[in-house]
Amino acid sequence: MAETVREFSFSPPANVARMQPSSTLAAMQAALAMKSAGVDVVDFGAGEPDFDTPEHIKEAAAEAMRAGQTKYTPTAGTRKLQEAIVGYYEREFGARLDAGEVMATAGGKQAIFNAVVTLCGEGDEVLIPKPYWVTFPEIATFAGARPVFIDTEQTGFQLTAEEVAEAITPRTRLIIINSPSNPSGRVISPAEFRKIMEVCAERGVYVVSDECYLRFVYTPAEVYTAATLPAELRAHLCIAGSFSKTYAMTGWRIGYSVAPAAWTREMNKVQSHSTSNPSSISQAAAVAAFTSSQGCVAEMLAEYRRRRDWLIPALQAVPGFDCPEPDGAFYAFPSVRGCYGDEVKTSADFADKLLKEAQTVVTDGAGFGVDGFIRISYATSMDRLEEGVTRIRRVAEKYAS
Ligand code: PLP
Repeated sequence: MAETVREFSFSPPANVARMQPSSTLAAMQAALAMKSAGVDVVDFGAGEPDFDTPEHIKEAAAEAMRAGQTKYTPTAGTRKLQEAIVGYYEREFGARLDAGEVMATAGGKQAIFNAVVTLCGEGDEVLIPKPYWVTFPEIATFAGARPVFIDTEQTGFQLTAEEVAEAITPRTRLIIINSPSNPSGRVISPAEFRKIMEVCAERGVYVVSDECYLRFVYTPAEVYTAATLPAELRAHLCIAGSFSKTYAMTGWRIGYSVAPAAWTREMNKVQSHSTSNPSSISQAAAVAAFTSSQGCVAEMLAEYRRRRDWLIPALQAVPGFDCPEPDGAFYAFPSVRGCYGDEVKTSADFADKLLKEAQTVVTDGAGFGVDGFIRISYATSMDRLEEGVTRIRRVAEKYAS
C-alpha cells in the first residue's frame, strides 16, 4: 500500500513571515534556468562585476593559505585588516578612523544586518528612500521594525535633506542611505549628504550609509565617503563597506563596517554568535586589495564608463523609454511607462515580455519599490550590451504607443 506523505507545515515567527524573497535573485534564477536549457539568454540581471578578481589579490589569498592562516580570527577581523582599512581611509580620503570603529564582516550585507538589528526593534521606523536596494526593507522587517519609504521620484531619485526632514517622525530610529545607488545610479553630492546628516543628528536619527559602490562614480560626480564627516556627525553613523564590487570579489564575502566604538561592540556581539568572523583567507585578500595599487579599480571604472557612455544614449533612443544618465554604480534604470498599454500595464509585465519574447533578463523596478522602471546591469561585455539593446528595441517597438 502506498504510503501517504504528510505535507510538512512550517510557520516562521511573524518577523520572518513578513520578509519577501530577493527579487534580484529571482531574476538570476530565471536566467540560469533558461541558460541551462540551452537558450541564448542576454542577462542584464546580474548585480555583480563581470571582471575576475585581480591576480595580486588572489595571490595574497593563496599565500595566506600556504602560511597556515586558515583558522578563526577575532570576530571584528584580523588586526592587519583593521589597520589596512584605517590606512586606506586615511590615504584615499584623509579620514582618521580608530581601529575600534572598524569591523570586518562577511560582505557589506552583513555589516548592514549587524547595524540594523543592533539598533532597531518593535515600534521603530526605518526610513528607506525609493528606489532602494531590495535587502534594506527586509532587514528592517526582520529586526521587527517598520520600513517607511521616502518617495524621491519628483526629484529624479535624488534624495534631498528636505525630503528626509519631512519624513522623520518621533518613531524614526534610522535611515538607510545608499550612494551611489543601486538601482538608480544616483550619487548624493557631499554638500547634500552633509545636510542630510545634520538633519538626522538634530532629530536624533541614526544613519546607515551603504557605500558598497563607493569607487564607481563617474566625473563630474564626486567620490565621497561619510567617513570624512566631523566626529559629532559620525556619532550616529554606520558605514557599510564592501570589497565585492570594487575589486570584483562578490564570492569572497568580505566587507566591513565603520561605526562608533559603542555601536561596534554591540555588532561584535551579534556577529560573534552568528558567523564568528569572515573567512580568514578572504580577510588576507582584502588586506592586499586595500594596501596595493588601486590601478585595477581605475581600469574597471574606465570600462564601466565606456559601457555607460554607449548604453544610455542607445536606451534613450528606444521607443517608450526614458533613461537618465547614472552618476555611479553600473546600472541603467529607465522608465518603461511609455510602453504601457493593453498588454503591458506594469514594469513586471514589460520585464516578462523581454524574457519570453526576447530571452533578455532585466530586473523589474517594483522590487526596488518603484513600478514603471527596469534595472539593466551593464556589468557585462559590449557585445552582449549591443545584442541586448537590439532585442529590447524590438520588444519596445511592439508595445510603445
Ligand atoms: N549594498 C548594495 C546597494 C548592493 O547592491 C549590494 C550587493 O548587491 C550590497 C550592499 C552587498 O554587497 P556584499 O554583501 O556582496 O558586500
